[in-house]
Amino acid sequence: MRGSWTIAAAALCTLLLVVGTASAERRHGKRGSNMPPGWTWPPSVAMKKSGDACRARLDELGVRWRKGPKTPKVAAPVVVPSMTLGGVRLVPTFRKPPFVMDCHLAVALAEQGTILYELGVRELRFSSIYRNTRVRANGKQYRSVSRHALGLAIDVWHMVDEAGVVHTVEDDYPKQDALLLAIETRMNETGAFRMLLTPANDPASHHDHFHFEAAVEYEAATPERRARKARKARKAHKSRRARKSGKARRSDKSGKSRRSRRSRRSRRNRRAKAE
Ligand SMILES: [Zn+2]
Repeated sequence: MRGSWTIAAAALCTLLLVVGTASAERRHGKRGSNMPPGWTWPPSVAMKKSGDACRARLDELGVRWRKGPKTPKVAAPVVVPSMTLGGVRLVPTFRKPPFVMDCHLAVALAEQGTILYELGVRELRFSSIYRNTRVRANGKQYRSVSRHALGLAIDVWHMVDEAGVVHTVEDDYPKQDALLLAIETRMNETGAFRMLLTPANDPASHHDHFHFEAAVEYEAATPERRARKARKARKAHKSRRARKSGKARRSDKSGKSRRSRRSRRSRRNRRAKAE
């Protein structure tokens, strides 16, 4: 009896592990597309509209911004010259400005930055925002395109508080630094970011920084538009088939006539010989 319980428990654990791993991979992109729902390239009408609404939101929040240079895969590129969002300064650790980002990241930081400010954060020291790379997690490089390549993510290594104290992820997170833990919890609660990657959930690739990634969902094509597209595809397929079979008939006809000409000629020859 005890043995069967042990086997059942082991089976359950294995199942949970498999399900857990699968969902973790889906979240941070091993299988399938790591792109935000509704994301296409070139940007769809819905994505362009989302970009317009996002820039209007930046205006509403009082963030001064300018259009960023056209950057592949960045749907709504903006540059925020002040690099201050929600009262929190974004300070590069070594890269030089300007920093192109998707508007949605700017809005997420501007909106949630006020929470960071309340927690006492005054500065986020980051290594990079946009960079054309693939997903790196669990110590592995995946084929999926990273959200950095979409301008939606930022890697933060140090948080500076109102007293000027620098909280370093690599050194202070393992010591249960209260500010770093509070940032992780509060930011995850907002839902504005996908789950932050930190030393806790990805010690292999994120032991030294927090990866913030704006959660974006673009409106997928409406059922009517999908139906219209399907109708168009069916029509194109039908006409392609019709063209093909027309050609076949024509070639069939010409084949037939060639054959009948040949048989008429051979009948004539046979008759001529007989005569
Ligand atoms: Zn990152």
